[in-house]
Amino acid sequence: MSDTATNANTASTPLDRRSFYINGEWVAPATANDFDVINPSTEEVCAVISLGGQADTDAAVAAAKEAFPAWAATPHAERIAKLERLLEIYVARNDEMADAISIEMGAPAALSKGSQATAGSWHIESTINELRNFSFEESLGDHAPDNAILYEPIGVCALITPWNWPMNQVTLKVIPAVGVGCTMVLKPSEIAPLSSALFADMMHEAGFPPGVFNMVQGDGIGVGTQLSGHADVDMVSFTGSTRAGVAITKNAADSVKRVALELGGKGANIVFADADPKAVVRGARHCFNNTGQSCNAPTRMLVERSIYDDAVTAAAEAAQQTQVDAADKDGRHIGPVVSEQQWDKIQGLIKAGEAEGARLVAGGSGRPDGHDVGYFVKPTVFADVDPSMTIANEEIFGPVLSIIPFDTEEEAVAIANDTPYGLTNYVQTADQDRARRIARQLRSGMVEMNGQPRGAGAPFGGYRQSGNGREGGRWGVEEFLEVKSVSGWNPTD
Ligand code: NAD
Repeated sequence: MSDTATNANTASTPLDRRSFYINGEWVAPATANDFDVINPSTEEVCAVISLGGQADTDAAVAAAKEAFPAWAATPHAERIAKLERLLEIYVARNDEMADAISIEMGAPAALSKGSQATAGSWHIESTINELRNFSFEESLGDHAPDNAILYEPIGVCALITPWNWPMNQVTLKVIPAVGVGCTMVLKPSEIAPLSSALFADMMHEAGFPPGVFNMVQGDGIGVGTQLSGHADVDMVSFTGSTRAGVAITKNAADSVKRVALELGGKGANIVFADADPKAVVRGARHCFNNTGQSCNAPTRMLVERSIYDDAVTAAAEAAQQTQVDAADKDGRHIGPVVSEQQWDKIQGLIKAGEAEGARLVAGGSGRPDGHDVGYFVKPTVFADVDPSMTIANEEIFGPVLSIIPFDTEEEAVAIANDTPYGLTNYVQTADQDRARRIARQLRSGMVEMNGQPRGAGAPFGGYRQSGNGREGGRWGVEEFLEVKSVSGWNPTD
């Protein structure tokens, strides 16, 4: 057990999380490089980690490389049994995980326990189910019966994750990678590193062989760049900003490694006049969920002109009714945004919205009343947003909704697609034919219609600058596999 064994802390005694998990044990960094983790609800230092350097990265990659042949050759059923053990441990420690997430990135207790932490167990379970039925060998077809297609683990993977849904992202990568026989180095976000330290403890407790799973804390310029350029890393799976995804892709090019990217978004929510009357409020709440810090948030609400005024009023009321408070408080409020840097960025974008002529109907710049400390943002709604405005184009990553009117179906689709992103779009209409027609025209990896969530195992990923990867289910497993074509493989042997 490591120094990550407990997540309890007080403001005056920050947690010490400075070690890395390499080759089955917790080790000190090669060179000390302390980094403060800030609790966004209080602006106080809640933990200290170390930012790794080249020697730490090299040690973790070497451990993963050494462990790969044996882990790849381990019977599939044994690997699944380890994952089943991990699931038991994760479920038993769910509340500890929820506390870690609340402290590091500000998700309120109810969201943390009910969604943020449980997203991890949900993905572990659904990936185990996928792996159980996954076939790693198939025939090319009746025309070539002696041709086999084998699916093999790609090798050593670097897994680089963001802070906004920390365990969601970590489990979407680690579980399929480990399940198919890859070994790996996880580099979580330096802004939200506590949940991954706890997750590493769980992996240790589950009994994965040394070197299969390694975790090094660090920043993008350091460990992130060292991993993406490393000659012994076969694949980088990255979730985060489009900016970092581009940098990783360029740095990985010299070693021709596979790069799977899950990047930003600017989702449109198209609301027709015949939609469920609750669709507008539901859409606004969805936008504010996790304090607007979700890549798939429906941040642009496109509303048919005939119901536009009522929709603006309903969305503004939804914003005004959204409570804002600290992460450790019970209730259905939203928490702070993750950092001072994010707070500053969001304030700048709210001011840009006002300066460019959008009509502010709820919220606005500055802190909400009663919250002078903590990175709290007012739930904000802009109406009369023109698609050319900055707030209609940039990913704000805060609780800010932009409402845009439209007159025709064609115009709505054109506005929705007028973005470099293409992650999730939403359609609200009682007309099923229209809903399906639009779903086909939207240039995005996901379309959610009439409030129906995607099922377990549905692929998550984007078009265009939202990335090129697909996580979850069969597609998330396939990302970590090489395809081998073998001829002369006698099927009767
Ligand atoms: P970020 O890109 O700043 O950081 C993400 C991770 O990448 C961190 O671990 C960071 O240390 C690392 N990193 C940064 N620069 C790097 C570099 N040059 N080389 C290697 N690693 C580097 O993103 P963030 O602020 O942590 O997360 C928010 C972003 O993530 C948003 O854009 C959001 O839309 C996106 N996101 C996408 C998905 C998805 O599935 N599509 C899911 C969640 C978040």
